[in-house]
Amino acid sequence: MNLIFLGPPGAGKGTHAQLLMNELNIPQISTGDMLRQAMKAGTEMGLSAKRYIEAGELVPDEVVIGIVKDRLQADDCKRGYILDGFPRTVKQAEALSEFAQIDVALNIALDDEVIVKRLSGRRVCLKCGATYHISTLNGKEDCAVCGEKLVQRKDDAPETVQNRLSVYAAQTAPLIDYYQKKGILRTVNCPPAGTVQEVYQLVRETLGLK
Ligand code: ADP
Ligand code: ZN
Repeated sequence: MNLIFLGPPGAGKGTHAQLLMNELNIPQISTGDMLRQAMKAGTEMGLSAKRYIEAGELVPDEVVIGIVKDRLQADDCKRGYILDGFPRTVKQAEALSEFAQIDVALNIALDDEVIVKRLSGRRVCLKCGATYHISTLNGKEDCAVCGEKLVQRKDDAPETVQNRLSVYAAQTAPLIDYYQKKGILRTVNCPPAGTVQEVYQLVRETLGLK
């Protein structure tokens, strides 16, 4: 199954993509994680992406299209994959349609107020991409998956979150319509107080998993 996870920042795309990756044994391809890893490693691409990411703006289409096109060539994508955070513009979606066949675009929908709360308490592992919320960490500072020290993303600061939400509304939300017209859109409406496991169950049902 070749999947796209759509939805506003903080909707839980990354969390559910990781759970699904483990269940279906297909890779989660997160452009955000790849860009942050490139930033951390100090590559040329990472350095050029940094100012966009930290301002909550989108990295130029050509850059992310190139990354995804390369990544999808790898052997582990032959049995399927989950695109998490890509495409984020209609231009990216059109490029993707030239080198990939997508089965389902899953839209994870969530209210803005919930998003702001979630992002401000988010902590991430820059090594493996796992994400946490301070309310469930009980003071722990290391990644439960790989042991790396957790950090707060600069773009999770409240001022930047507002900008990311406007960028989402202007540039990414039109993809909901785009995939609706292609006939492959499915939507999961997250109850504001739903637990990760409850929402993941909705994700599974929406994808028709037993
Ligand atoms: P979130 O879904 O929480 O906003 P991501 O980790 O997906 O976070 O993305 C973080 C940042 O990385 C984005 O705000 C943007 O600057 C950049 N980025 C990630 N994916 C893309 C993309 N497909 N196109 C352009 N920029 C991207
Ligand atoms: Zn980790």
